[in-house]
Amino acid sequence: KPGENPQTRPELREQHLRVTDGQVWTRFPPEPNGYLHIGHSKAIFVNFGYAAHHGGKCYLRFDDTNPEKEEARYFESIIEVVRWLGFEPWKITYSSDYFDQLYDLAIELIKRDKAYVCHCTQEQIKADRGEKISAPKACVHRSRPIQESLDEFKKMTDGYYRPKEANLRMKMDLTDGNPQMWDLTAYRVLDATHHRTLDKWKIYPTYDYTHCLVDSFENISHSLCTTEFIASRQSYEWLCDALDVYKPRQSEFGRLNLQGTINSKRKILQLVDEGYVSGWDDPRLYTLIALRRRGVPPGAILSFVSTLGVSTAASNIQIARFEQTLRQYLEGSAPRLFMVMRPLKVIIENVPDDYLVMVDKPFHPKNPQLGSSQIPFTRTIYIDADDFRLEDSKDYFRLAPGKSVGLFQAPYPITCTSYKIDSATGEVTEVFCRLEDSGTPPKPKAYIQWVAEHASSGSPVRIDETRIFHPLFKSDNPLAAVPDFKADINSNSMEVIKGAMVEVSFWPLAKRSIADALEEARARSAKSKAIPGAGSNGADTPEITPEQL
Ligand code: ATP
Ligand code: MG
Ligand code: MG
Repeated sequence: KPGENPQTRPELREQHLRVTDGQVWTRFPPEPNGYLHIGHSKAIFVNFGYAAHHGGKCYLRFDDTNPEKEEARYFESIIEVVRWLGFEPWKITYSSDYFDQLYDLAIELIKRDKAYVCHCTQEQIKADRGEKISAPKACVHRSRPIQESLDEFKKMTDGYYRPKEANLRMKMDLTDGNPQMWDLTAYRVLDATHHRTLDKWKIYPTYDYTHCLVDSFENISHSLCTTEFIASRQSYEWLCDALDVYKPRQSEFGRLNLQGTINSKRKILQLVDEGYVSGWDDPRLYTLIALRRRGVPPGAILSFVSTLGVSTAASNIQIARFEQTLRQYLEGSAPRLFMVMRPLKVIIENVPDDYLVMVDKPFHPKNPQLGSSQIPFTRTIYIDADDFRLEDSKDYFRLAPGKSVGLFQAPYPITCTSYKIDSATGEVTEVFCRLEDSGTPPKPKAYIQWVAEHASSGSPVRIDETRIFHPLFKSDNPLAAVPDFKADINSNSMEVIKGAMVEVSFWPLAKRSIADALEEARARSAKSKAIPGAGSNGADTPEITPEQL
């Protein structure tokens, strides 16, 4: 039950309290088999946040018991992203730090007649469980003598067996209604080189065996995990009791599922490997590095997950809700720049060639604290092609022949007097206007964005390629697609526009954010070099250049 301490043995409880002094100790335990996604930010928030709230401590623990799927770049990125979200692990540990201890306890478990070496195949184990999957039959190995299991386990350790030929299974309770009690595997033979222990081990402990014991070794007071582990709580407690070690309290919270995207490292990896996206940080993904690349501030992500609550209900959240939180977060703080996506040239005929007004343009219309920039207003400006129409109508307020429109922040409105058409394509190539700078200027009903041609101040900034991202999936629930989620991919999720233009204050802002990002990246790599173990397999932290950013 929530709130109930499962620790029934007072001496173990005393021993635990002596170490923690009654503080809350939690851990965030990612498997380093991919980059973290938005769902993980909830687990990070819950674990680090809960500990911080109670003045406790939170470990970042890499659950590195699946050497076949782990890679150095994942470890480094996970550390980086946890820090980016603003959390500093109390300690960074690895399940593999405890391989020796775990191994000794496995031998102890066999000696207590609570584990045995089994040679059944997966098919046989399945068959023993029968059609109804109720109480499975015991296999022949379950009752073998303790010494025989010890000898067989030694053979597993020494590399005598190939993968799948032998497993150490826990002798749990086959009559229990919970399949998590049906003699789970504790150790299996794997032919793999481990990221940290290299070729030392031929056998690796499973999640079910490792997780609770490492929680116990690290004196975790609150083992917080997602609800798919509810059934595992029983096996978690069984193993701690079977070995007479301190038994932490497991509590579960609901997963965060963002709709319209994929919240699973394994499936995101498929999208990357099969080239549906450009990489783990493709802005169409909801990995944390993709959100960072899109410019989502970490505070916005925390603000979002903090509104979700930590009940056991899984939250299926619309992307729109995430983006609304994001917009609210950015609303007051993000500088605004003028940008015309598809430039249309406008010549203001009634001003001289060298006409120049420097306009003081605030970065935010309602937040003067963000400052302002000086942008030129000259005889030749560009507006967005969408802001001009040949055929006027009553509900249309932007530019058309004979019609006036306001230009944001510019001193006067303009009125269209004529235009030029390319006879081959039928497209309007230039628009001629009058600056309404005398008499009583018309009161414009709409204001549009613009950028001016002014070579000596570098205006406008021409953008080679602008990428506009649309949702990567067509539906809210890609996992329901047949035959698989990739059938739901929207083939037009990236729109590329050539030749857009931005106001000249783009440069100082871009340089500032590049400088900030470089600074941040340097600080990050300095920190990750300082972590014992991180990157210790020889993978160098790459140099980061402004171009890569
Ligand atoms: P994935 O299926 O994407 O690999 P996982 O659960 O296997 O996810 P882990 O690396 O084991 O990922 O996750 C570390 C922690 O983050 C676990 O405690 C896990 O429960 C939690 N977590 C993972 N996904 C979510 C999610 N969508 N919402 C909340 N917590 C999550
Ligand atoms: Mg996992
Ligand atoms: Mg997983």
